[in-house]
Amino acid sequence: MNINFLKVKSGRKLLKTIKIMTPFQLSGKTALVTGGASGIGRAIAEVFAKNGARVYILDFNETQAKEVVEAFKVENLELQYKICDVSKSEEVQQIINEIAENHEINILVNNAGVAHVGNIENTTEADLDRIYSINIKGVYNCAKAVIKHMKGKNGIIINMASIASSVGISDRFAYSMSKGAVLTMTYSIAKDYVNEGIRCNSISPARVHTPFVDGFIAKNYPDDQDEMFEKLSKTQPLGRMGKPVEIAHLALYLASDEASFITGTDFPIDGGFIKLNG
Ligand code: NAD
Repeated sequence: MNINFLKVKSGRKLLKTIKIMTPFQLSGKTALVTGGASGIGRAIAEVFAKNGARVYILDFNETQAKEVVEAFKVENLELQYKICDVSKSEEVQQIINEIAENHEINILVNNAGVAHVGNIENTTEADLDRIYSINIKGVYNCAKAVIKHMKGKNGIIINMASIASSVGISDRFAYSMSKGAVLTMTYSIAKDYVNEGIRCNSISPARVHTPFVDGFIAKNYPDDQDEMFEKLSKTQPLGRMGKPVEIAHLALYLASDEASFITGTDFPIDGGFIKLNG
Protein backbone atom coordinates (compact mmCIF):
# COMPACT_ATOMS: atom_id res chain seq x y z
CA MET A 1 0.00 0.00 0.00
CA ASN A 2 1.42 3.40 -1.02
CA ILE A 3 1.03 6.38 1.26
CA ASN A 4 0.58 9.81 -0.30
CA PHE A 5 -0.13 13.20 1.23
CA LEU A 6 -3.02 15.43 0.19
CA LYS A 7 -2.60 19.12 0.97
CA VAL A 8 -5.93 20.85 1.70
CA LYS A 9 -5.69 24.58 0.98
CA SER A 10 -7.93 27.63 1.22
CA GLY A 11 -6.53 30.01 -1.35
CA ARG A 12 -2.79 29.87 -0.68
CA LYS A 13 -3.19 28.97 2.99
CA LEU A 14 -2.45 25.34 3.89
CA LEU A 15 -5.29 24.13 6.16
CA LYS A 16 -4.14 20.56 6.73
CA THR A 17 -2.26 17.63 5.27
CA ILE A 18 -4.11 14.34 5.05
CA LYS A 19 -2.36 11.00 4.79
CA ILE A 20 -3.94 9.02 1.94
CA MET A 21 -3.43 5.32 1.51
CA THR A 22 -3.46 4.09 -2.07
CA PRO A 23 -4.09 0.34 -2.13
CA PHE A 24 -3.47 -2.11 -4.96
CA GLN A 25 -0.15 -0.65 -6.07
CA LEU A 26 2.16 -2.75 -8.26
CA SER A 27 5.17 -0.42 -8.26
CA GLY A 28 8.42 -2.28 -8.82
CA LYS A 29 6.62 -5.43 -10.00
CA THR A 30 6.97 -7.06 -13.39
CA ALA A 31 3.82 -8.60 -14.87
CA LEU A 32 3.29 -10.76 -17.94
CA VAL A 33 -0.17 -10.62 -19.53
CA THR A 34 -0.88 -13.18 -22.24
CA GLY A 35 -3.40 -12.13 -24.86
CA GLY A 36 -2.81 -8.53 -23.76
CA ALA A 37 -3.28 -7.11 -27.25
CA SER A 38 -7.08 -7.12 -27.06
CA GLY A 39 -10.15 -7.10 -24.84
CA ILE A 40 -9.75 -8.19 -21.21
CA GLY A 41 -5.98 -8.71 -21.49
CA ARG A 42 -5.48 -5.23 -22.92
CA ALA A 43 -7.47 -3.72 -20.04
CA ILE A 44 -5.43 -5.72 -17.50
CA ALA A 45 -2.15 -4.59 -19.10
CA GLU A 46 -3.32 -0.95 -18.96
CA VAL A 47 -4.63 -1.09 -15.38
CA PHE A 48 -1.49 -2.90 -14.13
CA ALA A 49 0.80 -0.40 -15.87
CA LYS A 50 -1.22 2.56 -14.54
CA ASN A 51 -0.76 1.16 -11.05
CA GLY A 52 2.99 1.00 -11.35
CA ALA A 53 3.85 -2.37 -12.89
CA ARG A 54 6.29 -3.02 -15.70
CA VAL A 55 4.07 -4.97 -18.09
CA TYR A 56 4.97 -7.34 -20.89
CA ILE A 57 2.15 -8.26 -23.24
CA LEU A 58 2.66 -11.75 -24.69
CA ASP A 59 0.47 -12.07 -27.77
CA PHE A 60 0.74 -13.50 -31.27
CA ASN A 61 -1.06 -10.57 -32.88
CA GLU A 62 1.81 -8.18 -33.56
CA THR A 63 -0.27 -5.43 -35.16
CA GLN A 64 -2.59 -5.15 -32.21
CA ALA A 65 0.13 -5.57 -29.59
CA LYS A 66 2.11 -2.74 -31.20
CA GLU A 67 -1.01 -0.56 -31.30
CA VAL A 68 -1.60 -1.05 -27.55
CA VAL A 69 1.98 -0.16 -26.66
CA GLU A 70 1.88 2.91 -28.96
CA ALA A 71 -1.43 4.04 -27.45
CA PHE A 72 0.09 4.28 -23.97
CA LYS A 73 3.50 5.66 -24.94
CA VAL A 74 2.34 9.24 -24.30
CA GLU A 75 1.51 8.32 -20.71
CA ASN A 76 5.01 6.96 -20.13
CA LEU A 77 3.67 3.62 -18.98
CA GLU A 78 6.11 0.71 -18.74
CA LEU A 79 4.32 -1.36 -21.32
CA GLN A 80 6.04 -3.53 -23.92
CA TYR A 81 5.18 -6.56 -25.98
CA LYS A 82 6.75 -9.83 -27.07
CA ILE A 83 5.33 -11.76 -29.97
CA CYS A 84 4.46 -15.12 -28.51
CA ASP A 85 2.16 -17.99 -29.37
CA VAL A 86 1.28 -19.45 -25.97
CA SER A 87 0.57 -22.87 -27.49
CA LYS A 88 4.27 -23.27 -28.43
CA SER A 89 6.20 -24.39 -25.40
CA GLU A 90 9.75 -23.69 -26.64
CA GLU A 91 8.81 -20.19 -27.80
CA VAL A 92 7.14 -19.46 -24.45
CA GLN A 93 10.11 -20.74 -22.45
CA GLN A 94 12.60 -18.74 -24.48
CA ILE A 95 10.66 -15.48 -24.14
CA ILE A 96 10.00 -15.91 -20.43
CA ASN A 97 13.64 -16.85 -19.72
CA GLU A 98 14.80 -13.76 -21.63
CA ILE A 99 12.53 -11.50 -19.57
CA ALA A 100 13.63 -13.23 -16.34
CA GLU A 101 17.29 -12.50 -17.15
CA ASN A 102 16.56 -8.79 -16.78
CA HIS A 103 13.68 -8.63 -14.30
CA GLU A 104 12.23 -10.72 -11.51
CA ILE A 105 8.85 -11.88 -12.81
CA ASN A 106 6.27 -11.26 -10.08
CA ILE A 107 2.92 -11.72 -11.83
CA LEU A 108 1.63 -13.88 -14.67
CA VAL A 109 -1.88 -13.42 -16.05
CA ASN A 110 -2.81 -16.38 -18.23
CA ASN A 111 -5.48 -14.62 -20.26
CA ALA A 112 -4.96 -15.65 -23.92
CA GLY A 113 -7.86 -17.78 -25.06
CA VAL A 114 -10.10 -18.57 -28.01
CA ALA A 115 -13.78 -19.43 -28.29
CA HIS A 116 -15.57 -22.31 -29.96
CA VAL A 117 -19.26 -23.01 -30.49
CA GLY A 118 -20.55 -26.55 -30.79
CA ASN A 119 -21.86 -29.60 -28.98
CA ILE A 120 -19.96 -32.90 -28.76
CA GLU A 121 -21.37 -34.14 -32.09
CA ASN A 122 -20.39 -31.20 -34.23
CA THR A 123 -17.08 -30.46 -32.50
CA THR A 124 -14.38 -31.96 -34.70
CA GLU A 125 -11.17 -33.49 -33.44
CA ALA A 126 -9.31 -30.58 -35.03
CA ASP A 127 -11.53 -28.07 -33.12
CA LEU A 128 -10.88 -29.91 -29.87
CA ASP A 129 -7.11 -29.98 -30.47
CA ARG A 130 -7.01 -26.26 -31.31
CA ILE A 131 -8.94 -25.25 -28.18
CA TYR A 132 -6.80 -27.63 -26.10
CA SER A 133 -3.53 -26.28 -27.46
CA ILE A 134 -4.33 -22.61 -26.76
CA ASN A 135 -6.69 -22.56 -23.78
CA ILE A 136 -5.19 -25.45 -21.82
CA LYS A 137 -1.64 -26.01 -23.06
CA GLY A 138 -1.12 -22.26 -23.27
CA VAL A 139 -1.78 -21.96 -19.52
CA TYR A 140 0.44 -24.99 -18.83
CA ASN A 141 3.29 -23.62 -20.98
CA CYS A 142 3.27 -20.14 -19.44
CA ALA A 143 2.77 -21.25 -15.83
CA LYS A 144 5.49 -23.91 -16.15
CA ALA A 145 7.92 -21.41 -17.64
CA VAL A 146 7.41 -18.79 -14.87
CA ILE A 147 7.14 -21.06 -11.83
CA LYS A 148 10.84 -21.87 -11.75
CA HIS A 149 11.57 -18.14 -11.62
CA MET A 150 8.89 -17.44 -8.99
CA LYS A 151 9.63 -20.17 -6.45
CA GLY A 152 10.42 -18.71 -3.06
CA LYS A 153 9.81 -15.16 -4.27
CA ASN A 154 6.08 -14.45 -3.78
CA GLY A 155 4.87 -15.04 -7.33
CA ILE A 156 1.28 -14.53 -8.40
CA ILE A 157 -0.51 -16.44 -11.15
CA ILE A 158 -3.98 -15.41 -12.29
CA ASN A 159 -5.78 -17.64 -14.79
CA MET A 160 -8.68 -16.45 -16.91
CA ALA A 161 -11.33 -19.13 -16.53
CA SER A 162 -15.02 -18.52 -17.30
CA ILE A 163 -18.49 -19.16 -15.99
CA ALA A 164 -18.28 -22.12 -18.42
CA SER A 165 -15.75 -23.66 -15.98
CA SER A 166 -18.51 -24.25 -13.44
CA VAL A 167 -21.93 -24.28 -15.12
CA GLY A 168 -23.37 -25.82 -18.28
CA ILE A 169 -23.54 -23.41 -21.22
CA SER A 170 -25.25 -24.63 -24.41
CA ASP A 171 -23.06 -25.45 -27.37
CA ARG A 172 -19.74 -24.86 -25.69
CA PHE A 173 -18.42 -28.41 -25.45
CA ALA A 174 -14.75 -27.76 -26.26
CA TYR A 175 -14.66 -24.32 -24.67
CA SER A 176 -16.19 -25.59 -21.41
CA MET A 177 -13.75 -28.50 -21.36
CA SER A 178 -10.88 -26.05 -21.68
CA LYS A 179 -12.13 -23.61 -19.05
CA GLY A 180 -12.91 -26.45 -16.63
CA ALA A 181 -9.26 -27.43 -17.00
CA VAL A 182 -8.15 -23.84 -16.36
CA LEU A 183 -10.09 -23.91 -13.10
CA THR A 184 -8.64 -27.23 -11.93
CA MET A 185 -5.10 -26.29 -13.05
CA THR A 186 -5.56 -23.25 -10.79
CA TYR A 187 -6.34 -25.45 -7.78
CA SER A 188 -3.50 -27.82 -8.60
CA ILE A 189 -0.85 -25.10 -8.98
CA ALA A 190 -2.10 -23.29 -5.86
CA LYS A 191 -1.83 -26.49 -3.82
CA ASP A 192 1.58 -27.61 -5.13
CA TYR A 193 3.23 -24.23 -4.63
CA VAL A 194 1.50 -22.94 -1.50
CA ASN A 195 4.75 -23.39 0.45
CA GLU A 196 6.85 -21.79 -2.30
CA GLY A 197 5.23 -18.39 -1.87
CA ILE A 198 3.21 -18.65 -5.08
CA ARG A 199 -0.47 -17.67 -5.03
CA CYS A 200 -2.64 -18.93 -7.88
CA ASN A 201 -6.26 -17.87 -8.43
CA SER A 202 -8.68 -17.70 -11.33
CA ILE A 203 -11.26 -15.23 -12.56
CA SER A 204 -14.48 -16.46 -14.13
CA PRO A 205 -16.23 -13.78 -16.15
CA ALA A 206 -19.64 -14.13 -17.71
CA ARG A 207 -19.97 -12.30 -21.04
CA VAL A 208 -17.69 -9.33 -21.34
CA HIS A 209 -17.99 -6.99 -24.31
CA THR A 210 -14.73 -7.53 -26.22
CA PRO A 211 -13.71 -8.36 -29.81
CA PHE A 212 -13.94 -12.02 -28.66
CA VAL A 213 -17.72 -11.65 -28.23
CA ASP A 214 -18.19 -9.44 -31.32
CA GLY A 215 -16.22 -11.95 -33.44
CA PHE A 216 -18.21 -14.83 -32.02
CA ILE A 217 -21.55 -13.14 -32.82
CA ALA A 218 -20.44 -12.06 -36.32
CA LYS A 219 -19.23 -15.58 -37.15
CA ASN A 220 -22.09 -17.56 -35.69
CA TYR A 221 -25.10 -15.25 -36.07
CA PRO A 222 -24.24 -13.07 -39.13
CA ASP A 223 -27.90 -12.32 -39.94
CA ASP A 224 -29.12 -11.25 -36.51
CA GLN A 225 -26.12 -9.73 -34.74
CA ASP A 226 -28.00 -6.98 -32.87
CA GLU A 227 -30.63 -9.41 -31.65
CA MET A 228 -27.95 -11.84 -30.45
CA PHE A 229 -25.99 -9.06 -28.72
CA GLU A 230 -29.18 -8.11 -26.85
CA LYS A 231 -29.92 -11.72 -25.99
CA LEU A 232 -26.41 -12.37 -24.67
CA SER A 233 -26.53 -9.13 -22.66
CA LYS A 234 -29.77 -10.21 -20.97
CA THR A 235 -28.36 -13.59 -19.88
CA GLN A 236 -26.64 -11.64 -17.10
CA PRO A 237 -29.27 -10.72 -14.49
CA LEU A 238 -27.72 -7.22 -14.37
CA GLY A 239 -28.93 -6.91 -17.99
CA ARG A 240 -25.65 -6.14 -19.70
CA MET A 241 -22.26 -7.58 -20.53
CA GLY A 242 -19.25 -6.83 -18.35
CA LYS A 243 -16.65 -4.27 -19.33
CA PRO A 244 -13.00 -5.33 -19.73
CA VAL A 245 -11.91 -2.76 -17.14
CA GLU A 246 -14.21 -4.34 -14.55
CA ILE A 247 -12.35 -7.62 -14.95
CA ALA A 248 -9.03 -5.77 -14.91
CA HIS A 249 -9.77 -4.23 -11.51
CA LEU A 250 -10.44 -7.65 -10.01
CA ALA A 251 -7.15 -8.86 -11.52
CA LEU A 252 -5.41 -5.82 -10.01
CA TYR A 253 -6.74 -6.68 -6.57
CA LEU A 254 -5.66 -10.33 -6.89
CA ALA A 255 -2.19 -9.26 -8.06
CA SER A 256 -1.74 -6.80 -5.20
CA ASP A 257 -0.29 -7.34 -1.73
CA GLU A 258 -3.77 -6.65 -0.33
CA ALA A 259 -4.85 -10.07 -1.65
CA SER A 260 -1.97 -11.87 0.08
CA PHE A 261 -4.33 -14.20 2.00
CA ILE A 262 -6.01 -15.49 -1.16
CA THR A 263 -4.95 -18.58 -3.08
CA GLY A 264 -6.64 -21.53 -4.76
CA THR A 265 -9.85 -19.59 -5.30
CA ASP A 266 -12.01 -18.85 -8.32
CA PHE A 267 -13.70 -15.46 -8.58
CA PRO A 268 -16.85 -15.29 -10.70
CA ILE A 269 -17.48 -11.76 -12.02
CA ASP A 270 -20.69 -12.37 -13.84
CA GLY A 271 -23.47 -9.82 -13.34
CA GLY A 272 -25.29 -12.42 -11.24
CA PHE A 273 -25.16 -15.17 -13.90
CA ILE A 274 -24.24 -18.12 -11.69
CA LYS A 275 -26.29 -17.41 -8.57
CA LEU A 276 -29.28 -15.39 -9.80
CA ASN A 277 -30.39 -17.14 -12.99
CA GLY A 278 -32.74 -19.55 -11.18
P1 NAD B 1 -10.06 -11.25 -27.27
O1 NAD B 1 -10.30 -12.11 -28.45
O2 NAD B 1 -10.54 -9.84 -27.28
O3 NAD B 1 -8.51 -11.26 -26.91
C1 NAD B 1 -7.79 -12.45 -26.84
C2 NAD B 1 -6.33 -12.15 -27.10
O4 NAD B 1 -5.61 -13.39 -27.01
C3 NAD B 1 -6.05 -11.58 -28.50
O5 NAD B 1 -5.19 -10.47 -28.40
C4 NAD B 1 -5.39 -12.73 -29.23
O6 NAD B 1 -4.46 -12.29 -30.23
C5 NAD B 1 -4.69 -13.45 -28.07
N1 NAD B 1 -4.40 -14.84 -28.39
C6 NAD B 1 -5.26 -15.81 -28.83
N2 NAD B 1 -4.59 -16.95 -29.04
C7 NAD B 1 -3.29 -16.73 -28.68
C8 NAD B 1 -2.12 -17.52 -28.66
N3 NAD B 1 -2.12 -18.80 -29.09
N4 NAD B 1 -0.97 -16.97 -28.23
C9 NAD B 1 -0.94 -15.68 -27.84
N5 NAD B 1 -2.00 -14.86 -27.85
C10 NAD B 1 -3.17 -15.39 -28.28
O7 NAD B 1 -10.69 -12.06 -26.03
P2 NAD B 1 -11.26 -11.59 -24.58
O8 NAD B 1 -12.73 -11.54 -24.66
O9 NAD B 1 -10.50 -10.42 -24.09
O10 NAD B 1 -10.92 -12.91 -23.75
C11 NAD B 1 -9.76 -13.02 -22.97
C12 NAD B 1 -9.89 -14.25 -22.09
O11 NAD B 1 -11.06 -14.14 -21.28
C13 NAD B 1 -10.02 -15.58 -22.84
O12 NAD B 1 -9.27 -16.57 -22.16
C14 NAD B 1 -11.50 -15.90 -22.78
O13 NAD B 1 -11.77 -17.28 -22.83
C15 NAD B 1 -11.83 -15.33 -21.40
N6 NAD B 1 -13.24 -14.99 -21.25
C16 NAD B 1 -13.83 -14.08 -22.06
C17 NAD B 1 -15.18 -13.79 -21.89
C18 NAD B 1 -15.89 -12.79 -22.75
O14 NAD B 1 -17.13 -12.77 -22.72
N7 NAD B 1 -15.20 -11.94 -23.48
C19 NAD B 1 -15.91 -14.45 -20.88
C20 NAD B 1 -15.27 -15.37 -20.07
C21 NAD B 1 -13.92 -15.64 -20.25
